[in-house]
Amino acid sequence: MRAFTCVKAYMDGCAIPYRTDATGRDSTTFKVGGPLALLAEPSDAASAEKLISYITEKEIPYYIIGNGSNLLIPDEGVDKLFIRFAGELADFRIEGNELICGAGASMASAAKRSVAEGLMGLEWAAGIPGTVGGAVAMNAGAYGGEIKQVLKEVTVIEGGKLKTVKAEDSAMGYRRSAYSFPGMTVLEAVFSLRPDDGGAASRMEDYSRRRREKQPLSYPSAGSTFKRPEGHFAGALIEKAGLKGFSVGGAQVSEKHAGFVINTGNATASDVMEVIRSVRQAVFESEGVMLEPEVKIL
Ligand SMILES: Cc1cc2nc3c(=O)[nH]c(=O)nc-3n(C[C@H](O)[C@H](O)[C@H](O)COP(=O)(O)OP(=O)(O)OC[C@H]3O[C@@H](n4cnc5c(N)ncnc54)[C@H](O)[C@@H]3O)c2cc1C
Repeated sequence: MRAFTCVKAYMDGCAIPYRTDATGRDSTTFKVGGPLALLAEPSDAASAEKLISYITEKEIPYYIIGNGSNLLIPDEGVDKLFIRFAGELADFRIEGNELICGAGASMASAAKRSVAEGLMGLEWAAGIPGTVGGAVAMNAGAYGGEIKQVLKEVTVIEGGKLKTVKAEDSAMGYRRSAYSFPGMTVLEAVFSLRPDDGGAASRMEDYSRRRREKQPLSYPSAGSTFKRPEGHFAGALIEKAGLKGFSVGGAQVSEKHAGFVINTGNATASDVMEVIRSVRQAVFESEGVMLEPEVKIL
């Protein structure tokens, strides 16, 4: 692993907090994976902009991490500077019908607050265990809703500089956006919501109940491991291929929902990778469909 000495000195000079002991196990919801070489936690836009412009100029490899709820970090770790937003960049507020969120804010907490304050549009997002930045980058969605439907604009850092981009210029597609690629960083997102029609709280409760009933929420995972292939459901294909419960080491195709690979307690990232590889091969051989991972594999 690189020592990142110059970045540490730079961050010491700007009082940007960082950690040298972070791992995939403690920074992702899969709870697998080795060391992250360095994890910076800027807490305001000025520090984030300064840091990203410094590392862009120095060509230092970096990766933006949210809550790690869609990430697989390899067992040998990743030799990059990780950046996770904290402090005021993890806060949110409501102004009229708008929800304004720092990229590090919890998507679920912001969605729940918007419903509590009489707004609708994000009821489906109350069960997404990621940050707002991760939800925008992935164009997260569930139960017919997706970020694209409510996003107004995004403040981003591109090429080390801050700018505001309208939602329609953000290339939002199925589980992707202009921000799901290296070099683009979401700092803030503004959502345009509507006054509650009286049913937002019960819709939110219904979606949560459906998640609890159908998803293996008591095990570490990254949610749906594969993208939905056109005309199919990944879980149904995996089940049809006879892989429900298939396991390698501590990684298993969930018995409750075959679309989820779970960590039953002592999985390594290699176990998870091996389950993903085997599932793709078996589903391709028996069903003729090549599944694409939704989880970002570093
Ligand atoms: C139990 C469970 C249920 C889930 N259910 C759903 C669901 O219903 N629908 C759904 O869509 N997803 C779901 N997910 C997956 C995941 O929660 C979402 O994709 C979430 O939006 C990822 O956010 P994150 O902050 O954890 O991002 P991370 O996993 O940390 O990162 C994911 C990607 O986003 C990028 N990223 C993160 N922050 C930023 C930023 N500020 N700027 C630019 N890029 C950034 C990362 O670089 C990476 O490429 C589920 C996951 C779990 C564990």
